[in-house]
Amino acid sequence: PTTCMPDLNGPSMICRQRSLCWREGTIEERMQHALIKGIDKYITEDTEEARQHYDRCLQIIEGPLMSGMQVVGDLFGEGKMFLPQVVKSARVMKKAVAYLEPFMEEEKREAGLEGASQRGTFLIATVKGDVHDIGKNIVGVVLQCNNYKVVDLGVMVDCDTILEEAVKHNADMIGLSGLITPSLDEMVYVAREMQRLDFKIPLLIGGATTSAKHTAVKIAPTYENTVVHVNDASRSVGVVESLISDDLRDNFVTENAKKHAQLVSSYRERTQKLVPYEEAFAKRFSTDWESVTIDEPDFLGSKVLDDFPLATLREFIDWSPYFMTWELKGKYPKIFDDAVVGEVAKEVYAKANEMLDRIIDEKLIQARAVYGFFPAASDGDDILVYSDDERSQVQTRFHCLRQQWERRGQKDFRSLADYVAPVDSGRKDYIGGFVVTAGIGADELANQFKRELDDESAIVVQAVADRCAEAFAECLHQRARREWQYGQSETFSNEDLISEKYRGIRPAAGYPACPDHTEKRTLFDLLKAEKTTGVELTSSFAMTPAASVSGLYFAHPEARYFAVDRVTRDQIESYAQRKGWSVAEVERWLSPNLAYEPDNSAPDNSAPDNSAAAPTGSCPKCNCGS
Ligand code: SAH
Repeated sequence: PTTCMPDLNGPSMICRQRSLCWREGTIEERMQHALIKGIDKYITEDTEEARQHYDRCLQIIEGPLMSGMQVVGDLFGEGKMFLPQVVKSARVMKKAVAYLEPFMEEEKREAGLEGASQRGTFLIATVKGDVHDIGKNIVGVVLQCNNYKVVDLGVMVDCDTILEEAVKHNADMIGLSGLITPSLDEMVYVAREMQRLDFKIPLLIGGATTSAKHTAVKIAPTYENTVVHVNDASRSVGVVESLISDDLRDNFVTENAKKHAQLVSSYRERTQKLVPYEEAFAKRFSTDWESVTIDEPDFLGSKVLDDFPLATLREFIDWSPYFMTWELKGKYPKIFDDAVVGEVAKEVYAKANEMLDRIIDEKLIQARAVYGFFPAASDGDDILVYSDDERSQVQTRFHCLRQQWERRGQKDFRSLADYVAPVDSGRKDYIGGFVVTAGIGADELANQFKRELDDESAIVVQAVADRCAEAFAECLHQRARREWQYGQSETFSNEDLISEKYRGIRPAAGYPACPDHTEKRTLFDLLKAEKTTGVELTSSFAMTPAASVSGLYFAHPEARYFAVDRVTRDQIESYAQRKGWSVAEVERWLSPNLAYEPDNSAPDNSAPDNSAAAPTGSCPKCNCGS
């Protein structure tokens, strides 16, 4: 009836003039248009109108609503629609279904009818000890859009709960999500339990820390049935569809198994050469400690920044990762000129800024930090922290790992300890530490939006809080460099800061230079971070609220990030001894970094219950007094 009804070539081509002429179409046309364009303004009245036309509510869901979402799914699959738009469409769908629900209850009572036929039930959870939420939420929304029933158990879900709920909901598959490396082990544990309890359904693995390789090498072999690594939300639909479909399943499972076999054999044949720990230590990154500049911080000990202004943090935001969250490819601000995703990028950017305005105006989220500078010295691959500048008493000790892998052009094998003057160097050196959060109140706000069926806003809140936390880390690092003297005359733009043009680094536990997440315990104790910031560590040493960042400051003029990567047993033995832990315990926490197969017969390696083994952080081997 009109010239601007849904153009199936893509939503960006429809109704550019924001005209309301689509309102003149038939009820089916209007519902489809609203779904594709993500317009929720009229959906309740349209749904009511549809109810007058159709005999039963179920016919509306299975008719115009599902066919509209089918178009959305197809356009998304063809790359003509993007995640932010799909999430908007999902909201329209949810609103329509929510409106129909009470009527359907009534119909069911009257006629003994079943609910809407769904294509399958997908149970999704972030594993125990982990708080990764955004990616999981996006996958959930995308699958709902494709008419799967999604049971989202949330974050930090233990294995028993996941499996019990899967049985209860008669799930057709389970999706596990995780952000930090200890979650990899937890996923292996869940897979092993699925095997032991004779599960048959497919297991899907996703999240930042996961990889096709780890899935193939460590997870898939523990569970006889299908295990698939799903890299991003947009791929999840295709995978789930293939696994549900009787026509596609066999071929998909065969191809997946083939891929796994290839990954396993390339893993077995890897030829990375590792030097013995002793040799790596001998060839460490060296500094002429006599001549190197060492600056003295303005103060020693720690400071708390309570209710830090988000308006200030906003200036320090690195926006590029925000677009990655939405699976839009491109760097800020160039992304806005992109012929394909430019318009959508502008929209989600505007949405983020509206949300930030509101968060700031209404003080919906709080930011807090604790940071400090401490007298320090390296002792082999440990970093000693002294109680005061007299340096008579060791307060605590950070344990570092050293590179052992040989690469072309490499002269040294680094450890973070190399950046701090050794005990016997005759120099007084320092180290800094920080914990920042911009997530106080974020979960509550996101949940409020979820209750209003507004997944888009919930995701925006979480993503914006994450951005603010990273911005806080950047902002505080700048302040720390000033207070540590050497950054006094810095005049960097935000771009310069993002590309790390300044002197010094702020490595974060769990990242490649210091892959051991458990070292966060030592940092948190040193800064009394739980008490001062409210940030807490989970059983896997993830920080909650999720929008938090922590790390150490190193001022060494040549400090740079590196990857420890894989290490041999001789280093693990030394590390375990220095930490005062058993080798098996250290092996569990560092399992992704081991260059060897740990001896699995060791008793405390057989049941990776991380909480039971969670170390307290006090180190019996050092003089920390605890
Ligand atoms: N601008 C980015 C900054 C975060 S990523 C954002 O807003 O998301 C960069 C941070 O990751 C660094 O500041 C450091 O804390 C950590 N990091 C990166 N590489 C690392 C490495 N190899 N070892 C330890 N930490 C690392």
